[in-house]
Amino acid sequence: MEPGHGFFNKVLDSVQTNIAVTDESGLIVYTNNAWLRFGRENAASSKLAHINTNYFSVCEQAAASGDAFGKQALDAIERVLCEHDSVAYMEYPCDSPTEKRWFTLRITRFFHDGKKYLVMAHQDITRRKLAEIRAVELSYRDSLTGLYNRRYFDQHLETLWEDHLASGQPLAVALLDIDYFKLLNDSYGHARGDECLAQVGSMIKDFAKRYGALAARYGGEEFGFIFSHSDLDVALAAMEDFSEQLSKARIEHRHSPNGKYLTASTGIASQIPEEGESAKNLFIQADSNLYKAKKKGRDRTEV
Ligand code: GH3
Ligand code: MG
Ligand code: MG
Repeated sequence: MEPGHGFFNKVLDSVQTNIAVTDESGLIVYTNNAWLRFGRENAASSKLAHINTNYFSVCEQAAASGDAFGKQALDAIERVLCEHDSVAYMEYPCDSPTEKRWFTLRITRFFHDGKKYLVMAHQDITRRKLAEIRAVELSYRDSLTGLYNRRYFDQHLETLWEDHLASGQPLAVALLDIDYFKLLNDSYGHARGDECLAQVGSMIKDFAKRYGALAARYGGEEFGFIFSHSDLDVALAAMEDFSEQLSKARIEHRHSPNGKYLTASTGIASQIPEEGESAKNLFIQADSNLYKAKKKGRDRTEV
């Protein structure tokens, strides 16, 4: 069989990639059907849906209006056009009115009858991007409580430290540790222990939202809080509010030396960040106050 023009068009459509070919000046001289369909369905790309449109000009207009991806596309075109690179690749967001979407643009070059042409191939990578975003999101979460995890807490504390260093505002950290939790596991079983952690986690989530704090499950039965623009008084009032809620929740802990219900101990520290000091040190201060609360008999907050 000698494949003809129609055959190649079918091949180009079946690859599910939107393809346009431009000449050296950017003029679109060929598009596959997928490209035309995509252009019709997407207002943002409709400018490029026609033969004789100048692809480079559309990118220039986008770049001039402040679109960083327009500028990136122009740079990629330039690299392939001047034969610096044989292929250029970029990923860019291109939302439709109803959903978030991402595409790749792959630019290659060929010569025909002594003229240079560029192939612009766009492909929808939304599914892969959403999976990547989900994976990153999951890597910051604790699976039992749905709260942020220690990794996120530590990173966020560093970021907020820098922000507060610049603004000269105080930053507060609180660490809360459930009292006699090993005993709760021993009394009711590990599964019940998990349920308690999930229940406390859910209370913490609501609490953090109300106070605009960042909360994380820092370790097994230990939770961390960051209060932006907050001194000790603010953080103390918030954490005492939480202790009160916890006591009102009356989570059974029949063998606790502190009474019949679940309690927690909290350590708080706050400071206006200064050069030469560190977020880590602020955390250590909160941890040492937590240790004091434990030593003093638990079910209390130390600052
Ligand atoms: P303290 O009042 O001094 O804090 O005593 P504690 O028993 O709470 O503290 P300790 O550090 O001795 O024990 C913590 C316990 O928390 C031990 C561990 O088995 C339990 N734990 C840690 N993570 C989990 C979890 O995910 N699920 C359950 N059920 N238990 C956990
Ligand atoms: Mg404990
Ligand atoms: Mg602990």
